[in-house]
Amino acid sequence: MKKTIANWGNYPVMETEEKTFTFEEQLSDALLHSDGIIARGNGRCYGDASLAKNTISTLKYDKVLSFDTEQGIFECQSGLMLDKILEVIVPKGWFLPVTPGTKFITVGGAIASDVHGKNHHVDGCFSHHVLEMDVVLGSGETVTCSPTSNTELFWATCGGMGLTGIITRAKFDLKKVESSYIKQKQIKAQNLEEVIELFERYKHYTYSVAWIDCLKKGKHFGRSILMLGEHAKLEDLDEEKKKDPLKLPNKKQITFPFTLPSFVLNQLTVKAFNFLFYGKNFKREINNVISYEPFFYPLDAILHWNRGYGKKGFVQYQFVLPLESKQGLIEILKRISDKGLGSFLAVLKVFGKQDDLISFPKEGYTLALDFPVRKGLFEFLDELDKVVLDYGGRLYLSKDARMKSDIFWKGYSNANRFSEIVKKYNPDFKFNSVQANRLSITH
Ligand SMILES: Cc1cc2nc3c(=O)[nH]c(=O)nc-3n(C[C@H](O)[C@H](O)[C@H](O)COP(=O)(O)OP(=O)(O)OC[C@H]3O[C@@H](n4cnc5c(N)ncnc54)[C@H](O)[C@@H]3O)c2cc1C
Repeated sequence: MKKTIANWGNYPVMETEEKTFTFEEQLSDALLHSDGIIARGNGRCYGDASLAKNTISTLKYDKVLSFDTEQGIFECQSGLMLDKILEVIVPKGWFLPVTPGTKFITVGGAIASDVHGKNHHVDGCFSHHVLEMDVVLGSGETVTCSPTSNTELFWATCGGMGLTGIITRAKFDLKKVESSYIKQKQIKAQNLEEVIELFERYKHYTYSVAWIDCLKKGKHFGRSILMLGEHAKLEDLDEEKKKDPLKLPNKKQITFPFTLPSFVLNQLTVKAFNFLFYGKNFKREINNVISYEPFFYPLDAILHWNRGYGKKGFVQYQFVLPLESKQGLIEILKRISDKGLGSFLAVLKVFGKQDDLISFPKEGYTLALDFPVRKGLFEFLDELDKVVLDYGGRLYLSKDARMKSDIFWKGYSNANRFSEIVKKYNPDFKFNSVQANRLSITH
């Protein structure tokens, strides 16, 4: 079916011939009859990674295959979304081992981007919990791979942005929990130095993330709110919550009704920002027990919030710098705040050690912020890319819609090895995307 599609940033927008499948035979047939094709999950990557002239949507390939409630091992088809998995596993006392900031992504998308959560420094990426998966190659052949068999294919598929083939099935482990609640601690930090010091002090916490105010200059430059969390134990719950400790959160969602002109966004963001940072009752530290939903997925409460960025769309800029490059973090944040092009809030997380083939994380700090698409933006981001590279960092492919190919090849130290494995399993580049062509991976 011909369709106009875009991913979460609504930039770029393009026409595609979309195919769907509910049985593997349909997938093999679709692959036989198309070239220049890429797998598409729920389109929650921000840029052009799941855009191509032919796309194969996995959304109808979404069955639960097995769930070992004793061992916490879950197996499903790749189009199943994390929100559906949570509905099955949480009432049985299990949680996702790693989750990104939205639950509206597929398992295939979680592996292909090798997503990270607020617990990367403790639990690593999603791929570290994958026990085995099936990948359908361009020939239609299904290959099962895992950290111990067909390992090249396994590691090039984790974080490989769909370029080795279509992930159709995955088996992964879960995290045992006593309740569906999170014991949360929020701490206000006066500036960037303090928040980095707090990350260090509280590194024993499983979950951590900071929201940084990008407007403040001077001694409050980089002032932030650090959010820390642990899965609440039974003893942490009040009497009311103890009655049903594994209760699923109520579905309270509102929908952003239509695409707004860009100026409205600024007014809305300023209001949200003022509320967060100047709220009269906001103490230096807050400790409470909340449902997992507002802790992990605060943005999911407003469906289609991306419409708020206007018709031209936006890009999310996410980079990681090694731990020792704190100066680079300061320099980049300064440039962004001086330029005044970015959103007012940036999200800062810490990554633990990781050295996989092509996954984004490596030990250090990662910062993400949104930029509405406008004149002069891409030239400015090109300058930032150079600073990121100079400090030994790289950009997240899952958020990217515009980086130049040399930034990818220089930033990802295993890019050559990755490209050789892609050529081995995808020799004619049957699988390619707008992003992979732009970055000269499949070109
Ligand atoms: C609000 C929000 C918050 C987010 N927070 C985080 C975060 O905290 N951490 C993080 O890591 N990411 C985060 N992301 C990004 C998101 O988790 C990833 O982009 C994820 O890959 C999207 O999955 P999807 O199912 O929507 O796949 P798509 O966006 O459709 O595709 C993403 C990539 O996966 C490939 N792919 C999809 N399915 C398959 C398959 N079956 N086989 C092979 N390749 C496949 C596509 O080709 C593409 O390269 C966030 C996104 C949003 C919108």
